[in-house]
Amino acid sequence: MKRLIIAIDGPAASGKSTTAKLLAQKLGYVYLDTGAMYRACALAALEKGVKHSDAAGLDRLLQKIDLRIEYSPTGNKVLLQGVDVTKRIREEDISRLSSDISTLGAVRAKMVELQRRMGAEGGVIMDGRDIGTVVFPRADLKFFLNATAEERARRRCRELQAKGEAADYDTVLQEMLQRDRQDSTRDLAPLKPADDAIPVDTTDLTIEQQVQLLYRHICDKLLQSGGVEIRLALHSGFCFGVRRAIELALKAGKAGQPVYTMGPLIHSPQMVQQLRQDGITPAEDAASLRDSTVIIRSHGITRQERETLVQNGNTLIDATCPFVEKAQANIRQLCREGYPVIVLGDRDHPEVVAMLSYCEGETLVVTGRNELPDRHWKKLGVISQTTKNTATLQELVAALAPRVKELRLFNTICTATSLRQEATAALAARSDLMVIIGGRNSSNTRMLFQLSSALTTTLHIETADELTPEQVAAHCRIGLSAGASTPDHLIVNVYNRINKLTGNRTTVTSVEDIPVN
Ligand code: C5P
Repeated sequence: MKRLIIAIDGPAASGKSTTAKLLAQKLGYVYLDTGAMYRACALAALEKGVKHSDAAGLDRLLQKIDLRIEYSPTGNKVLLQGVDVTKRIREEDISRLSSDISTLGAVRAKMVELQRRMGAEGGVIMDGRDIGTVVFPRADLKFFLNATAEERARRRCRELQAKGEAADYDTVLQEMLQRDRQDSTRDLAPLKPADDAIPVDTTDLTIEQQVQLLYRHICDKLLQSGGVEIRLALHSGFCFGVRRAIELALKAGKAGQPVYTMGPLIHSPQMVQQLRQDGITPAEDAASLRDSTVIIRSHGITRQERETLVQNGNTLIDATCPFVEKAQANIRQLCREGYPVIVLGDRDHPEVVAMLSYCEGETLVVTGRNELPDRHWKKLGVISQTTKNTATLQELVAALAPRVKELRLFNTICTATSLRQEATAALAARSDLMVIIGGRNSSNTRMLFQLSSALTTTLHIETADELTPEQVAAHCRIGLSAGASTPDHLIVNVYNRINKLTGNRTTVTSVEDIPVN
């Protein structure tokens, strides 16, 4: 996919930097705030005592200047002669001096040269005053952001107040008008929109609306010049436990006798349906099964169900996920040793129901720290459903720590789950649409949906035909992720459907390859 050069120009506090930063994060681009470079120059001149009228002194300063930007999605650092000046250059004296120094030809020539070098390879969003007119007159996309002076002054005041600095609205407004005047009337590279810049009035827009508006234009551009980029999150689809359960079931099915599973083998209605065709049928009630081959599903079954099945002469094939088995052993140990146990999980989920059957002592199931009772414990065990979120478990433990004398934790969240969650969140942060594929009854899939929804527009589907053209339209960076019980062919079907809906213009990128088969 083409990596664009995007120019955002406009006066102070028009929303350039916040918008550019968020867009860069979303696109995985580098963000360069060129104002920071003029500010660093002004600081260098101030520190060295070089006057703006001293041309020879300025030349020497510019030759020796070591100005570096350390890029980071959480905020760039500006280094001047190796020293971090990120905070210092935001102070008001530097705002004034940077506007003065940026009128000088030698300074501008040096900065433009550096900026062109930094953006040459594309994949960059640069904001400033002359990016679309001088630095990159052939930028792929140009925006000119503006807002009324009053609104911009209010924003600047809020910014200053947030930093704990005094902010007098009238003074801020006057200084800003003065800086705008100087920036737009100077001879060299004055602040003005490029002829082909898209004007955006941000006066009445929220940051989200601004970002959305610019992103739509960027998306259109990417669609024209390339296509829709689709990535699949690492670790998507079957985990080890599910794969093993299916292999065991298929092997048992081949023997020609009817085979039953206690409850659905895995939480994928489509896969369960497919297994039915191979003679593998889910049964809900252990008592109804006699002298049959019964597969214990990956989430495990209760101790009582197991006993009933054995008493009734059934042959058991145990496909309980080894991670779930471990969690059952852990809760049994906690109970034996007299710990009341808090289980992080969904009370009605078969895995939790089965887990609780191995503990005769006091237990409590919660979905997070908010459900904790207001009490203290002498000793307490904590355990988790294997597909829960590590951050939620951490919060729970942190909330319990001050209330318990002896706290024993078994971190039973399985590695496959945490890796999948991390990969999904990372992909969601840089996608404009995420499609999570998996059973609606699948806890780990729902968790992926929840994590992703907090970061970007997200859909949860079981099968490709649920996707509508409207849902896919106007998105150019689509991420896919799938729960641990989602078979590969369902993922491939979703990829094919998106490809069809976008007129076969998808580009699959990266290590996170779609498992095309
Ligand atoms: O954007 P910011 O307020 O940090 O910029 C500080 C000053 O640097 C501006 O007032 C302007 O005079 C100057 N500048 C410039 N050209 C740019 C970016 C900033 O002249 N591309």
